[in-house]
Amino acid sequence: MPLFAALTYEELNSLERDETVVLVPTGCTEQQGPHLSVDFDTWFAAELCEAVAERLESRGVVALVLPTTPFGPTPEHRGYGGYVNLRQDTFERLLEDVLESLIAQGFRRFVIWRGCGGHRLSELAHRFNAAHTGAARVWVPDHPYNEVWCALADPDVPGGHADSFATSIALARHRERVRPDRVPPPSEATPDFADSAADWSLVSATGVVGDPTRASAEPASASGHKPSSGPPRSSSASQWKPSNSLRGTGPDRRAKAVDPPRRGSRRRPARRT
Ligand SMILES: [Zn+2]
Repeated sequence: MPLFAALTYEELNSLERDETVVLVPTGCTEQQGPHLSVDFDTWFAAELCEAVAERLESRGVVALVLPTTPFGPTPEHRGYGGYVNLRQDTFERLLEDVLESLIAQGFRRFVIWRGCGGHRLSELAHRFNAAHTGAARVWVPDHPYNEVWCALADPDVPGGHADSFATSIALARHRERVRPDRVPPPSEATPDFADSAADWSLVSATGVVGDPTRASAEPASASGHKPSSGPPRSSSASQWKPSNSLRGTGPDRRAKAVDPPRRGSRRRPARRT
């Protein structure tokens, strides 16, 4: 496993550093509904980057995964408790210092993988790339989560936060971090994802956006939807163990959502962890 922190400095110095892709996962500590632990974004980012690094290595690309930062800006979740919030400025300075440290050692290819959909780093990337043109580059990819869910499960299940996508992943990877008896009924809340000053607790009583009750460690089989592509083929894929669906184990799914009805458009919010 190509983990930066697990190597010695001599081993790190012996790498072809200018050819190495450094994956920088950013985690977050914030509410994930009453049923998921507040470190979901953190371990998900770490494990996803580890799987990516393994796949890159199998293709002959040297990749390293940096330790995941556990905190980021999460002001919209302040109304629930269970969070650690960084100011945007603190967050960007932290990441700039991380990247500058690595550049000083000869690394020059970076991917910041945002564990939290609320993390805004495009300005940082633009600034960094302008300052290091020709010498180093950082990429901040978009999240393909909605496409993944739609390909593997039921596109009609509304999502947004602590939904069936996140809950399914937690069931498959870290069932001990799921409280099946605390899965709330679907929420029709539509918080403004673009407004970092918003207080989500004013629109979603549980913290959930979307429907978490359709989660399963095997969402494709639970939904009856025929997946259009298989599970990831990295070596980590073998760890995706079958597990029972959440159906029938949570609170009464007929229970009425306690959130206020959404106003305006019926557009489903983009899925965001
Ligand atoms: Zn998040």
